Amino acid sequence: MSNPSLLILPGDGIGPEVMAEVRRIIDWFGDRRGLRFDVSEDLVGGAAWDVHGTPLTDATMAKAQAVDAVLLGAVGGPKYDTLDFAVKPERGLLRLRKEMDLYANLRPAQCFDALADFSSLKREVVAGLDIMIVRELTSGVYFGEPRGIFTEGGARVGINTQRYTEGEIARVARSAFELARRRRNRVCSMEKANVMESGVLWRQVVQEVHDAEYPDVELSHMYADAGAMQLTRWPKQFDVIVTDNLFGDLLSDLAAMLTGSLGMLPSASLGAPMENGRPKALYEPVHGSAPDIAGQGKANPCACILSFAMALRYSFDQGGEADRLERAVQAVLDRGIRTADLMQKEGGRPVGTRAMGDAVLAALEASL
Ligand code: NAD
Repeated sequence: MSNPSLLILPGDGIGPEVMAEVRRIIDWFGDRRGLRFDVSEDLVGGAAWDVHGTPLTDATMAKAQAVDAVLLGAVGGPKYDTLDFAVKPERGLLRLRKEMDLYANLRPAQCFDALADFSSLKREVVAGLDIMIVRELTSGVYFGEPRGIFTEGGARVGINTQRYTEGEIARVARSAFELARRRRNRVCSMEKANVMESGVLWRQVVQEVHDAEYPDVELSHMYADAGAMQLTRWPKQFDVIVTDNLFGDLLSDLAAMLTGSLGMLPSASLGAPMENGRPKALYEPVHGSAPDIAGQGKANPCACILSFAMALRYSFDQGGEADRLERAVQAVLDRGIRTADLMQKEGGRPVGTRAMGDAVLAALEASL
């Protein structure tokens, strides 16, 4: 059998710097765990525009469609700020998400004990936190028609439309239930069924999918505003949260910040299963290209490393190896090894991107 395939798109700014560390980790899994990938690398964002005059070529798009998973660094930077909207670096990422039809955005909020003091909440509220927000990514009020600013009776009216088909709700609900089965087997669905018809339908369809296909998973429903309160009051009550595009945008940012630093946050965007049963998948850190520190070897590679851990778990069914990698990151933090972004509240000397990669590799080696 051939190796699973991985397309790497480092992108711009700190993207290539953090991805270089992930490449070393991928090689480690090949050499030491016999877990080999067919890795190809290509351009996206400003880097692609510089060479091809487009943020994503058709050839790269075709490669992304053909591989088992895509791993992306970050796109964008001040150099490209004046470009026409149609060729801005971010359009490359949007095209990938759209054409791969990545409808489920997974944002874990996981708090490493060593970083619990970084949260704005009390240590006991966040230490050991491990929840997953599944946000519907390709429909809802950001896409619904009609939309626009119109004039009615001489006054301007701004209109956006919240619209969900039952198929769109059902498929993201399935993603959440599947995830829950690999975790603590609980899903909480959030909407505003008290004031929105689309919320009433959301609740009905999630319940129907549950009853017909996932009766073994514990399901609860919550209004999204109450959900926001519960997330800040006692986030550990949740396992998987599934919600629509708009509420997910807000709730996933809120949950992410429970855990501290941008340099630690991975994400995944998943679509429909391919012929081989694996979902279409794009893994990327939540952070951007960090132009303020790009080229200085200071960036924290952990968000990108943890994105690869998500790929191991959700694309390649290697949950044990994903655990190994996450534990290695944890061990490094426990030893007090920190990049500059994790140092605000402490003294000591920060390490650079490469040294952080070295430390994770050493921790992986020690795990054998
Ligand atoms: P950003 O995430 O790039 O940076 C915000 C702050 O966090 C900066 O001070 C940065 O130095 C710091 N930071 C981010 N990642 C870090 C890391 N791994 N290690 C250490 N520090 C880190 O957000 P921004 O400054 O708003 O945007 C910069 C560029 O990135 C813009 O062009 C924006 O459009 C783009 N962007 C891209 C993505 C993406 O590729 N998915 C996401 C957000 C922003």
